[in-house]
Order: sequence, then C-alpha cells, then structure tokens
Amino acid sequence: MKNSILNHYLFDAFSVASDNMFVYVTDIRNDLTRWSQKAVEYFDLEGEYIYDVKTKWIDYIYPDDREEYKEDLIATITGRKQMHNVQYRARNKYGEYVWVECRGSVIKNENGEPIVFAGIMTRLDNQNKYDNLTKLPTVYEFQQLDFDTVEGSLMLVGIDGFRKINNRKGVLYGNQVLILFAKLIELCVSKDCRVYHYQSDEFLVYAQNTNADKMKEFFEHLTVLCAKGDREHGINGFSISGGVVQIEKGSTAFMEVATKVVNAISAAKESQTHFVCYSREIEEKQNRKNMVAEALNDSIRNDFKGFELFYQPIMAKNGERLIGCESLLRWNPDHPEIGNCYPNEFIPILENNGGIVEVGYFVMREAIRQASEWQSRGIDIRVSFNVSYLQFEDRNFINALIATAEHYHADTSRIIVELTESVFASDTVMIRKSFELLHQHGFMIALDDFGTGHSSFWMLHNLDVDIIKLDQTFIRGLGKDDDTEVDLAIVRSVAVLCETLDYLTIVEGVEDEYVINTISEYNFTGMQGYHFSKPVPKKRFEEYISQYC
Ligand code: C2E
Ligand code: CA
Ligand code: CA
Repeated sequence: MKNSILNHYLFDAFSVASDNMFVYVTDIRNDLTRWSQKAVEYFDLEGEYIYDVKTKWIDYIYPDDREEYKEDLIATITGRKQMHNVQYRARNKYGEYVWVECRGSVIKNENGEPIVFAGIMTRLDNQNKYDNLTKLPTVYEFQQLDFDTVEGSLMLVGIDGFRKINNRKGVLYGNQVLILFAKLIELCVSKDCRVYHYQSDEFLVYAQNTNADKMKEFFEHLTVLCAKGDREHGINGFSISGGVVQIEKGSTAFMEVATKVVNAISAAKESQTHFVCYSREIEEKQNRKNMVAEALNDSIRNDFKGFELFYQPIMAKNGERLIGCESLLRWNPDHPEIGNCYPNEFIPILENNGGIVEVGYFVMREAIRQASEWQSRGIDIRVSFNVSYLQFEDRNFINALIATAEHYHADTSRIIVELTESVFASDTVMIRKSFELLHQHGFMIALDDFGTGHSSFWMLHNLDVDIIKLDQTFIRGLGKDDDTEVDLAIVRSVAVLCETLDYLTIVEGVEDEYVINTISEYNFTGMQGYHFSKPVPKKRFEEYISQYC
C-alpha cells in the first residue's frame, strides 16, 4: 500500500518496540489507519490497514467505556484537547476485555488542517499494579480477587466535576487534589477496607462483612473532609459522589460488579444526596441513558440527522402581535426503542458528555440562518436561541457566532442569545469578555429562567444582560396554586426591577387568559407560553407569522 503518511520508516521502528505497546497512525483525509503488526495479532484486527477505524474500533471497546473514549477522541480531533489520553477496556483475540491506555495526538498541515492522528496504546493488564500518583493499588489488583468467594460491599467514590478542576487550575493542581482525596479516603474508611484507584478521579473501597449503611457513614465523613480541602497547601474544598453495590458470594464476576457500581455513581452524581445504592431501577435508567447517548452520538456523526429547530412565538403585551420566537431543539432519533425524547432528557446527556458543544454549533447556525432568511423576507421578529454554559467555555464559539452572522448577513440586533444561570459556574472574567464581544457586534443577551438559580441578582450585578426571562414556575400557577400571592409578589417586584434598570422582560409559561389579564398591568415586553402556541416546526410557525406579524 502506497501512502507516505502511513509507510514511514519510523512507524516500522516503533512498532517492534514492545510487547505491551501498540502503535497506530491515521491518515485523516483518507480515513485510513495503520496498526502495528502486534496490535493486529493481539486484537485479531481485520488487517494492518483499516478504513473508517473509528466505527470499527468502537466494537472492540467495552460498552461502558465507549462514551468516554469517543468523547476524548472527538475533543482531540476537533482541537478542544491537546492530547488523546484515555484508559478503557478493549477486547483481545481471546474475547477478554483488557485495560489499555490510549494516547495520541493530531498533527496539522501548514493550513491548520488535521492530517495525521498518531499514537500509542499501552496494555495495562500485566503492569501498573500501583497508581503512580496516589500509590494505591489499581483496579487490576482488585480484578485479581477471587470473585467466587468475594462478598461484602463495594463503593466507588469520585470527585464532582474533576475534569473542570483540571481544565481551570491545571494538571499539577489536579494531581494534588487526587493525592489529597486518596489520603482522605484511607483516613475515613475502617481498617478492614481496601482502597483501589479505579480511574482518573475515581476510587474503589471494598470491604468484606460490611453493608451499604456502613459505606454511607464512610461517605458522609469523607464528604465533610473533602469540602474543607487543604488550606495549608492551597487546595480548595470539593464535592464528591459515591455509588455502592452489595456483592453476594459466588454470584458475580468483576465486570458485572464494576458495571453496577459505575451505574450507581452515575446516578449519584445527579442525585441531591450524591450517594446512591445500586438497584435494578437505577440500572434501567442508566441503560436508557447510555442508549440515548449512543444514539445522540450517531446523530451528531451523521451530520446532525434527526435534530431540528422548532420555534415558539413570543407575543407583545396584549398577546396580539408577534414580536419574536425562541428556537428550541428537537430530536427524532430513528431508533426502535427510544421513542419520544425531549430536551429535558437529552440536553443534560449532551452537557454531560460534551456533545452539547457540537450540537450547540448546529443550533446556532440554524437559528442565525433562519433569522437571516426571515429578515431578508422583511419579517421583523427577534429570534433567540439557547446556549449552554459549556459552549461559553469554548473559546471558538463566540467567534464562530459572529462569523456566522456575518456569513448570513444577519441583522444581529434581532438575534438574542439565551443563557441560563448555570453560566455562573464558568469563569466570570471570560464570560464578561464574551458578553462584551457579543454586544460590540450588536447581539442581545437574555438571562433565561430568571429566579430559579441561586445567583440571579449576582448575575445582574456582575454581567451586562439586556433581557430577563422570568421563569415559568412563577407564572404557570397564577390563579391556580395556593402560592398565587407569593408568585404575584415576585412578578410585581421583577416588573419594578426591570423597569428601574431598563431591562426588556419576557414572561414564560403563559398558559391561559387569566395570566394575561393578571400581568397586563405590568410593562412586560413579551409573553411566551402554550396559550399562544407550543414550539412548532418552521412551516407551522410561518403560518403564525402571516397571522400575527
Ligand atoms: P427553556 O430555555 O426554558 O425553554 C422553554 C421550555 O419551556 C421549552 O421546553 C418550552 O417548550 C417550554 N414551554 C414554553 N411555554 C410553556 C408553557 O406555557 N407551559 C409549559 N409547561 N412549558 C412551556 P423544551 O423545548 O422542552 O426545552 C426545555 C429546555 O431544554 C429549555 O428550557 C432549554 O433549557 C433546553 N433547550 C432546548 N433547546 C435547547 C438548545 O437548542 N440548546 C440548549 N443548550 N438548550 C436547549
Ligand atoms: Ca430558553
Ligand atoms: Ca426558560
């Protein structure tokens, strides 16, 4: 095979280097990968040269590890991450899953286009008995236990948002956090517990003759210590999550136990208590999540197939004139088991695995393209779209937004970027800069779901927003709930706030005439809600335009 990228003499030199290491190099433009001969033999690959290896290699990876692998790979290829570095389990020629560490990087040509992806995969099965950083035994040691006789309780504990800590404060700081975490775990658990490093920021605690209640006690103690951090050494407090599974004698194998405890910690990360014991219900929820995550990734890879923007009208004060719309994402996967799947389910999954960044680009392009099309037809409405805080952390996003508006010759003063209070979790200096840039280019910024977070007033105080969207929780119950008085007081004070500080205000969740009448005495800019229309496809929305614009 003639391919100057793949047939470099260095490849031959490296590929014979070691038994535990495999070398690969991908010619990105031709989507052709070459593997070292030892990898071909060990994994029983279809050959030394493989087209479309991304799709094929996925099959070799243990299902639970696929997401992390894909996420890391996409981040590396798209330039969000400098180096592909991930540990996962891959199936060898004997059908066994072995742990490997895959590291690789992208090489670009002089025009900045990625041309080569090359790296090394290291087998971890017969080495790395101890974690270099924390000096704790690794999961491979845990795997060596005789699972016919093992019984007791197994807990997996991890640091919430560790990736973020690493990104913001650097790897060296991250390492110190991990060392402290490992120390605190050993301090909290009883002497008969054994602690293992599982992966990244996650550790296993195993104890015979211990039940979930006891593990919960350890966890609570650990939570308190971690929240304190280590001031003396400049380490801030951090929060943690834990999942527990009970192991019955003779009934389990390592993979089964590992899957259960990983499912439990995933559920814990979303629960208020941050601690969850494994149950069938949790497993089912987790399975659905994995299935949805997989299908979402397929859609993204398939040029966003199944994603579409719907539009929900925003009406002027008396509800008779259309002044704008909110673009809301819909996803119709061509999948027999998934059925209906709405943003409240799929957006958190995308935010969790980083997919929101790519989907966010799609939403932004579509919304701006659509806004520009309506503008060129003389339709005067404001078009808004939602941006997740993770997109604001992507330096290129704001520039791409500006470039997209220029590309479509869109009037940016009619385009609104909606952000929820979760942007608060991001770096304030960076958000301020992004806001400034957006304003310089004429865009408007709306603070979404106003009143639901902990930082509404902080946001107003610190950031320059143009529009406040009062959350629907204060509106939907007006006239129906016992809380009407409280809700009314909130509505009234937001009205005063917006008038005094000159914000435009949009009221969400207007579901009936009663609400319109109740809030009509305030000077709100717009109303949005099912009373006027649910979010609808473009065609249906255009009927709305001809009726109310
Ligand atoms: P949101 O930005 O607060 O969007 C408003 C949500 O309220 C929409 O739900 C809309 O259908 C619903 N809604 C509007 N009027 C009423 C009403 O009168 N009554 C009730 N009960 N609900 C009403 P949807 O489309 O399911 O979206 C849910 C959330 O998902 C959005 O909340 C937003 O946070 C997120 N989302 C949707 N599309 C996108 C997107 O393109 N990007 C990002 N990052 N997030 C999105
Ligand atoms: Ca919104
Ligand atoms: Ca909202």
